[in-house]
Amino acid sequence: MSELKRVRPGVWEVAPVGGMRVPARIFATEKLVEAIKKDQSVQQACNVAHLPGIVRASLVMPDVHEGYGFPIGGVAAFDLKDGVISPGGVGYDINCGVRLIRTDLSREELDPKLKQLVHQLQRDVPAGVGSEGAIFTLSDRDLDEVMVKGARWAVERGFGQEEDLAFTEAGGALPEAKPQYVSARARERGAPQVGTLGSGNHFCEIQVVEEVYDEKAAKAFGLAPGLVTFMIHCGSRGLGYQVCDDFLDLMRLAAKKYGIDLPDPQLVSVPVSSPEGERYLGAMRAAANFAWANRQVIMALVERALVRVLGGDRRSLGFRLVYDVAHNIAKVEEHVVDGKKKKVIVHRKGATRAFPAHHPETPAPYKEIGQPVLIPGDMGRASYVLVGTEKAMSECWGSSAHGAGRMLSRTAARRTAGHRNLVKEMGEQGVIVAARSPKTLAEEMPEAYKDVSLVVEAVEEAGIAKAVAKLRPIGVVKG
Ligand code: 5GP
Ligand code: MN
Ligand code: MN
Repeated sequence: MSELKRVRPGVWEVAPVGGMRVPARIFATEKLVEAIKKDQSVQQACNVAHLPGIVRASLVMPDVHEGYGFPIGGVAAFDLKDGVISPGGVGYDINCGVRLIRTDLSREELDPKLKQLVHQLQRDVPAGVGSEGAIFTLSDRDLDEVMVKGARWAVERGFGQEEDLAFTEAGGALPEAKPQYVSARARERGAPQVGTLGSGNHFCEIQVVEEVYDEKAAKAFGLAPGLVTFMIHCGSRGLGYQVCDDFLDLMRLAAKKYGIDLPDPQLVSVPVSSPEGERYLGAMRAAANFAWANRQVIMALVERALVRVLGGDRRSLGFRLVYDVAHNIAKVEEHVVDGKKKKVIVHRKGATRAFPAHHPETPAPYKEIGQPVLIPGDMGRASYVLVGTEKAMSECWGSSAHGAGRMLSRTAARRTAGHRNLVKEMGEQGVIVAARSPKTLAEEMPEAYKDVSLVVEAVEEAGIAKAVAKLRPIGVVKG
């Protein structure tokens, strides 16, 4: 690997060497670059730069860390004709993403009922490894419908409202999903899991808007200091995981046929336009739609829990979806390359879409503002809402960071936690935590993550998103 050179404030580059077809470009502050150099993520981004049909550069977001083949926090776009598609560039949890809900409730109003609400959420939102929906196990036909209709499927069954779909990336469903390419095993795993959080890093969090940096944008998003918000982070559960696994197997065999030279076997890929590529895309879209249905159902479960504890209803509580973003996905999108409009397939793995104002996919009420970018931090410090920019569009396929990024491995975090009583510690810091497993809690403690404000500082320095508001956690339900 050649040296990392600063190109402009917040942006670094590794020039192409050897089989690299394009440079690797890293969006980070000087401080974060030092941290990023400590693991293999830049090397992984350079490996991605070897893949056929990669356009412009292999991109790295400031919250990057090592992943399966592609780094988590990696963005790469490929030509539809000569390019490839890679399951490792999407990740195991297909359409893992974040949903933010705003309310008219103030922290003071909620305070006397906060503890009760956390426990109600823990009862009403199924979580944990292999957790099953309290609601239903789906038949194969229902599952097909979920995988085609996505969030709309949930709305049609009374989970949330039609208006939620307008505030969901892609309207909560990618077209051209092909449930027929989702294996029996994946279906079996997914059937009981619609409306479940899962485990580990997935969560449902109660937050308070602590600070507003952009009044106009915050107003459009319905955010103001002191208001209560809910953040949901989860994905496609066992179904998406199995789709990824199935296609890694299938592509390992197919890649040989296409003679794709891989610097790392984990980058296994096939041409986008090959039959295997089309099958993966169809199955990946089906899994993505499953994830949108999942987050839509969970939002409705949160609404029910809130109404049960506080009374009133959705309208009187001002309970409304701010936005739902995917951060593990591959999508065909139109971008400007060398002054011309071009369709490419953008892989975002641990990266959030960040489209600017006036983009046709930005929801109408946010047209003048841009798309909300949701960056969760950790359960102790903060999470941020930002907005997409023109610069993100022109430099990194309309993308931005997706989190704080892990700093300690799960094992190291457990070691650091030792016998500490984290529930008590968090409680003393003003966060009520309900976790099913003390082990997960240790792995997910704030110290396991980088400081999210450094990530926000980095995306702002590079200009690929602009801060709108800071959210502070007050209650967390963990898987
Ligand atoms: P990932 O999708 O890569 O697993 O996680 C996305 C981000 O979520 C992580 O990088 C981390 O910053 C953030 N995160 C993990 N657990 C929590 C939590 O309990 N609360 C909040 N607000 N953020 C979290
Ligand atoms: Mn995620
Ligand atoms: Mn996930």
